[in-house]
This record gives sequence, structure tokens and C-alpha cells, in this order.
Amino acid sequence: MVMAVGNRTFLAERVQLIFSDSWASLPINLINAGVVALVHRNVLPLHVPLIWFLFIASVVGLRVALYLWYRGAPVSEANAPVWARRLMVVLAVTGAGWGVGGIVVMSMAPPIYQVLIAFVLGGMAAGGMPSLSRIFTAYLVFAVPVLLPAIVYFAYQGTELNISVAVMGTLLLGFLLAMGRRQEANIVNYMRTAEENRNLVQDLRREIAEREQAETRLRSREHTLARAQRIAQMGSWEWDIVNDRITSSRENNRLFGRDRDAPPYSYDTVLQAVDPEDRERINEIIKNAVAEGRAYSCDYRIRLPDGGERVIFEQADITCDDDGRVVLVTGINLDITDRYRAQERLRGAMHEAEAASEAKSQFLANMSHELRTPLNAIIGYSEILKEDALERGEASFIPDLDRINVAGRHLLELINDVLDLSRIEAGRTELFLESVELLPFLDEVVVTVQPLVSANGNRFTLDCPADIGEICTDVTKLRQILFNLLSNAAKFTENGEIRLQVSRFTDAAKAGGAEWVRFAVSDTGIGIAPEDLETVFMAFERSEAGRASRYDGTGLGLAICRYYCEMMGGVISVESGAEKGSTFTVRLPPTVREDERAGGVRAE
Ligand code: ADP
Repeated sequence: MVMAVGNRTFLAERVQLIFSDSWASLPINLINAGVVALVHRNVLPLHVPLIWFLFIASVVGLRVALYLWYRGAPVSEANAPVWARRLMVVLAVTGAGWGVGGIVVMSMAPPIYQVLIAFVLGGMAAGGMPSLSRIFTAYLVFAVPVLLPAIVYFAYQGTELNISVAVMGTLLLGFLLAMGRRQEANIVNYMRTAEENRNLVQDLRREIAEREQAETRLRSREHTLARAQRIAQMGSWEWDIVNDRITSSRENNRLFGRDRDAPPYSYDTVLQAVDPEDRERINEIIKNAVAEGRAYSCDYRIRLPDGGERVIFEQADITCDDDGRVVLVTGINLDITDRYRAQERLRGAMHEAEAASEAKSQFLANMSHELRTPLNAIIGYSEILKEDALERGEASFIPDLDRINVAGRHLLELINDVLDLSRIEAGRTELFLESVELLPFLDEVVVTVQPLVSANGNRFTLDCPADIGEICTDVTKLRQILFNLLSNAAKFTENGEIRLQVSRFTDAAKAGGAEWVRFAVSDTGIGIAPEDLETVFMAFERSEAGRASRYDGTGLGLAICRYYCEMMGGVISVESGAEKGSTFTVRLPPTVREDERAGGVRAE
């Protein structure tokens, strides 16, 4: 910023200039006074030129004294007016010394000598002008006393010659004063301009220094950004739509296999680098985004100049001008080749796994079906044989026939479970919804399981309010869930208590207060250790205690219960502890929703 020079008078600088030039004028003063004294030594009594010289020398001495004083205490902005005043006083005295001394000598000298003195005085007044007129008043108080006494003196003589000299002297004085005033104005102007220039240069230097610093900072930031881009394998670019000019960061150039400092290029150049299979799709995405003035992101494969391939994720934003026209697209490109390849491998592996799982389910479903036919024959014939044996009184066959029958039934149960599970896993299980009154439905369940439940000396209780109402669900699956839970309870409890509690409740935590029907099967049996609680719902998982040889089982019942529950939009949970009995709770919505009916659940 340029410092305001304003109306500064630069008095201090001008006083300084006058003082520094004084040295040169002082010897001239003495030489002039000496010449006048020498010239008059023969025409005037000797003491007159001597006194004259001493007088002028003492006046000059005054100026020397002032100069020495000045050197001891240099002038400053604050004391400049004081020094200017001192200077003026001394100059006025010097001028008056010359002027008065001059006419005194003149009055005694012959006319031709008078002209010489007049010439010397004129010279003194003129000679002082260049240096003293830096402060016009200082020159004025010097020049006027130098010349005025002589002018008055000549005019007073009255002769034509003398009056002519007086007029010429007056003209000279007037001219010198006019010049002096002009010079003062010029000097002040010059100093002002110089100061302004100095300020300008200073400001310029400061600006240059600031710009250099800013450039250094910018370079360092660019460097950091380039490093960050290199580490992240992410390039950036800007597409000037109007001129179809894309400027690209070094990392972006590297990603595309271009020279790091490659010059800007066009949109078509980028499209050419895109794999032909992706080109049209990408062109469509970008053109649409630009036409609609919105940000976009996409990924595509590019072909590198060396024949390699890279996968790029691109994300860009759009800048519009004041009229809403898209003028600039700014974006980043990320190298996602590794991620893309890993995903491709994963997709392939998942595809294979799904195909394998499908094949397994298919195989199981087929095998189970093929196994059931002969097995049913075995069970049926063992029962016929048992009846025959009883009729013929051959009791010794009966235990073996019972074993065949029990083993056959167990195997059939296992096959049925496997079949159910493989149907679920193959996604072939469907829901058949129907509404059913819960009380008669539960009575029927209890009648069926009663012999099983009381077999181990257990007591059974059904706890259900009379107004429980109806449920709209897949009744067969609900029945199977309750059979599984109740037969597990019976299996793992001896001389204990088994209870089936059914109730309706509203879930206050859910928005709108979802309605549920809860079926809780609790027993006082062997319970499940905490470490087994998480796995009992997984296929083929059995608790440590459940694996004990005295308990039959496949580890499939609870897995099937869970899948069926989820298919019907419900949840199943368990609370238990070793030797503390277990409570399995099933929550089902009173009406299965349409989407759940359609969706089904695939096994994990
Ligand atoms: P299975 O009963 O044929 O073994 P399930 O899937 O029905 O298979 O049960 C899995 C395991 O969970 C059982 O083997 C048993 O260890 C445990 N379990 C299930 N119900 C109970 C229960 N009421 N009391 C104790 N353990 C149970």
C-alpha cells in the first residue's frame, strides 16, 4: 500500500540539503571578500579593506558555528522548523553583513570600484540561490539584505548611470527571487514524487515478497496434494466444457498410463481409453449428468497404452455459470482394480457355493424321498410281524421287532427333518395361510402330545386365556413347531413339569404397538448350558447334555422351528441354564403379512 505523502513540506530534508551545501559556499564568501579587500588596498586606507575582510570573515564564522552546532544535533522532522529559523537568522545576518559592509566600502571607493562591489554583491545573491532557495524564505532573508542597500545606494546617487545600475539590481533581485520561489516549489514537488516512488518501490517489494511466500506455500501444498493422491491412488481432473479441455493431476495421468506432465486433452481422448465394453454406458452416464447439471459417479475399465487394464471409480461434480449453463466438471478417479478383482473372485466363489448348496439340497431332497418308501415298508412290516408274533404266542420275537420298529421310526423322523430342511434351503418351502381358532387348535395339539409328555412321569399344563381368539398363519408349520418344542421338553425332563403358555401382547417399544401371539414352552428338565444357547438353533447342533446317548435326536428340530418362525414373520428365543429347565418362546404376528408369505426364508 502506498503511504500517503499528502502535503508534506519536507522541511527537514531541505534544511539538511542547505547545511550540506554550505561548506562549498563558505570559502567562496571568504575569497570574494578577500578579492574586494585586495582590490581596494591601494585606493583606500589599508585599515578599511582589512576591517571589511575581518567583518565578512566573522559573519562567515557565524555560519560555521551554526553548522558545527547543527552537526552535533542533526535535524529531524520535529525540530526542522527550529533549525530553519536558526538558519534564516544567520543567513539574514550574513546577507545584511554583505549588504551593509558593501555600501560602506562602496561609499568610500571610486565609482569604477563601486561597480566591482556591486558585481560581487550581485554574484553573492545569485550564487546563493541554487542552494538556499530550497527554503525560499531562507533565500529571501539572505538575498534582499545583500542587494537592497546597494540598490538604494545607487538610486540615491541620482546620476543616470547609477540609477541604471539600481534598476538593473532591482530587476536582478526580482528575477532571483522569482527563480528561487519556483525552485523551492520544484524541489518540494520533486521530493514528493521521490517519496511516492520510494513508497511504491517499498510496496512493490513487499508485494513481491508476499507473492513469493504465497507461491512457496502453494508449491508445498501442491506437493502434499500430489503425495496424498499418489498414496491414495486417486487422481483429480477438471473438464472445461466450453473449450473441451481436461486438465489432469499427475496421479490421474499416471492412472491412465499417460506422461505425468501430459498436456490437457479432450473428452474423446478419455473415452478412447475406456474399455469398448464400458464406453457407451459411461458416455451415457456422463452426458446425462452434464445435460441435467448434476453430480455423478460410475466405475469402468480402462485400457492402458502398454496393453494393461485398470478399473477406475469416478466421481464428479458440476459447476454452472450465472445463466445455469454447465461450464466445468470437477472430479476424482480412484484406482479400484484390486477391490474390483477381489469382488469378482468373491462373486465367483459365492456363485459356486450357491450352486453347490443347491446341488446338495437337491440331492438330499431326492435321497430322502427315495429312502422313505423302503423305510415305511420296514416299519409297516415290523408292526405286522409283531401282531403275527403276538397271535402265535411267540413273545421272544417281540423285543427285536420293537427295536426294528423304533429304529425305523427314528430314521423316518430323521429323514423327514432332513427333507424339511433341504426344502427350506432350496427355497422351496411355501406358506399356506389359514385362520384357526387357537383354543380348539391347542386342545388338539395337547391330545397328540399328551402320551409323549406324560411318558417320563411329567405333569403337563396348558395355560391359555379363553378369549385368546384366532390366528391367521400356516397352521401345519405352527403345529410342527409346537410338537418339536413339546417333544424336546418331554425328552429332556423327567418327573418334572411341562407347561405351554399362550397369550397375546402388544409390543410398546414398536411404533404403532405391534401385536403378537406368544407361545412359551417351559420345562423343569436338564436345561442348556450358556455356551450352547447360541448354537441350539443351528442345524445338526446339539447341546453337550443333549448329545448324551440316552437322548435320541438329530439336532434339526430347532433349526426347522427357527426357519418356520421367521417365514411367518415371528421370532423364537430360549432362556435356560444347566439343570434349571428351559423356556422356548415363539412370537408370531396374529396375521402373517403378504410379503412374508411370498418371501420365505433361505437357510444359512
Ligand atoms: P434334537 O432334539 O433332535 O437333538 P433339536 O434341534 O430339537 O434337536 O434340539 C437341539 C438341541 O437343543 C438338543 O439336542 C438339546 O441338546 C437342546 N435342547 C432342545 N430342547 C431342549 C430342552 N427342552 N431342554 C434341554 N435341552 C434342549
